[in-house]
Order: sequence, then C-alpha cells, then structure tokens
Amino acid sequence: MIQKLKKNCLNSVLFTFDDGPDETITPLILERLETYGVRAVFFIVGRRAAKHPQLLRQINSNGHTIGNHTFDHPNDKSYPYHKYKRDLINCQKTIYKITGTRPVFFRPPRGLITFASLLAAQHLALKITRWSVFGHEWDYAKNDDAQTIGERLLRLISPGDIVCLHDDNAKVPAILDFILPSLISKNIDLFSGIKNL
Ligand SMILES: [Zn+2]
Repeated sequence: MIQKLKKNCLNSVLFTFDDGPDETITPLILERLETYGVRAVFFIVGRRAAKHPQLLRQINSNGHTIGNHTFDHPNDKSYPYHKYKRDLINCQKTIYKITGTRPVFFRPPRGLITFASLLAAQHLALKITRWSVFGHEWDYAKNDDAQTIGERLLRLISPGDIVCLHDDNAKVPAILDFILPSLISKNIDLFSGIKNL
C-alpha cells in the first residue's frame, strides 16, 4: 500500500483529487494545475465519469493520471467482496472505454482498507494508494474558508507527501490558488511526483 512518495523523491509532492469528475469544479482545478505546471492523480468515480466523458478525456490529455475510486463509491465497511470486485471492474472498464488507458492506482472510498477492498485490488493488480496529508475540506474543516484550510495544508506539506483533496468541493480551486504559488516558491516539485509512487 502506498501512503507517501518513495524515499528518493527529493523535493516532490503529489496532489491527488478524489470523487470527480465534477462538471463545475474539475475544469477550475485543471486550469490551476495548467497555470502552475502541476501533474496530479485524479481518483475518479466511474458513475460520474460515465456522465462526463469529455472531462475524463481532458484530465488524460492534460497529462494527469487517472486512478480508480470505484464505480459507485461504496462507503459501507461491510460491502461484500464479490460486489466490490464488480464495482472496481466497472470503473476500470468505464475509464478504458473513454480514455483507452487502464488505471494502475486505486484509492478505496474513505481510504477504507477492508478484506473486500484489499482482495479486489489484488485481483485486478491495482496498487492501493492512500495519502499522507488530507484536506478535510469536506468534513471537519468544512466551515473553514479556503485560506484557513490552505494555511493548515502549508504547515503540514513537506517533500514526499501525497496530498488528498476533492474535485467536487467548491473551495478547492481557491485552496490551490493559495497554496500552489507558495509551494513553488519553496522549490517543491509538483510535476514529477507520479514517477515516485
Ligand atoms: Zn471518495
């Protein structure tokens, strides 16, 4: 299971975005990533990707990596293995049909490592990828403004980190506007983290 970048990653930080694509927020995030020369991983929900195939193609053609975040985003710890496996396969197929690429990285919903998620990932040879810094923009920090969340992230982020944010959350574009220039000014490499997964 991956939680941080490899030790020899020098000064890389990898941004990852869960739960999209979202027709409003994802394009705003893609704009920021282009502006600041960032390459990220988007852990997409298959059901949403099927509704917005053009967004998935854009993520792919902008040079980002697409990861599997299941088709239906099951949150239930007791979701059975056979259903989990089918869900992961559905997501793989959806991504392949739209982009012609097969994800190798998988993030379980809520990062939950269960018998079902572990075994289903193993069955499909997917690498489970969690995170080391979490935005919390949708749970305990949901009432904080983008700058407060950004300041907290800047205190936490250091080389080797995998940062998890959500590209269906309206605060995330402003969070990126706040933190990306600051990280770049500290010479953090936000482009090649994917090579160090
Ligand atoms: Zn999720």
